[in-house]
This record gives sequence, C-alpha cells and structure tokens, in this order.
Amino acid sequence: MIVFDLHCEHGHRFEGWFGSSGDFEDQLSRGLLACPECGTAKVSKAPMAPAVPVKGNAAPTAVPRVSAPVASDEAAPDAPLANREMPAEVQRAMAKLAEAQAKALKDSTWVGGDFAKQSREMHYGERDEGPIHGQASLKEAKELLDEGVPVAPLPFPAAPPEKLN
Ligand SMILES: [Zn+2]
Repeated sequence: MIVFDLHCEHGHRFEGWFGSSGDFEDQLSRGLLACPECGTAKVSKAPMAPAVPVKGNAAPTAVPRVSAPVASDEAAPDAPLANREMPAEVQRAMAKLAEAQAKALKDSTWVGGDFAKQSREMHYGERDEGPIHGQASLKEAKELLDEGVPVAPLPFPAAPPEKLN
C-alpha cells in the first residue's frame, strides 16, 4: 500500500491509500476518487513537501563551472582572421546590415564617381529620380548634405558591378 497526499479543486487536503501508483491513476480516471469534505471528483496529488537535509554537514552545493573557450587555430580554418576575433552577435549584425545593403542596392544604379553630380541633378529636377549609389568624397558628400540633397553613407563599401564578377 502507498499513501498519497491529495487535494481537491477547492484546496481540501486528504490522504488516499492505494495498492500502487497505477491504482491512483486508474481510480482517478474512472472518477472513483472524491474529496471527503466536498465530494468533488477533481482531485490530484498534492505537491510533495520539499526535502530537507537531515545531516548538519551536508555537501556544499555544486557550482556549475563555465569553461573558458579554448583558443584554437583550427577552430575555423576557412574563416578570415578578422571573423574569428569578432563576437558572434557582431557577425550576425554585420551580416544583417550587409544583407540590407545588398537589398537596397539591388534596384539601385551604380554611377561611380558621377554620384555627386547625379544626386544634385535629381535634387534640382534636372534628371529623373531613381535610386543610385556610387562614390563621393567626404567633401562632396558634405556639400550635398549642405544643399539638402538626401544622401547617406553606405555601411559597407560598394563595388562597381563590373568588379563583382
Ligand atoms: Zn474538497
């Protein structure tokens, strides 16, 4: 025989005696168990009382040790050196940024060194508007911004299309 601490849906606690643990499940599923106080059949095993160490000199609690990462040159033989020193989250952020740039540039026209001129022409309505990207010196970029031409630096250097192949 085993005894279980049981409680009903209303919080009444009582003991139930069973031939085995399976008997409890069996009687419960058949609705044979009922709270002696309120008669509800919705009863379940009460949570066990927390075990309290009896002996005074209990073993000290084990502290999980975090092992230091082992530096190895063989960890990523194909990765460029810079990638190995970059934390994973930085790599992920960079990859996302690169992906966003590639997406943005997909429909954009590479104009190379003509960027400042064409941006200005679009701004003043001398040319049809369209997404372009190219190269501009810091001075040119500053002049464009001063004139109110909407330009923005790319997070990554963009290569001319002919250099991509
Ligand atoms: Zn009850």
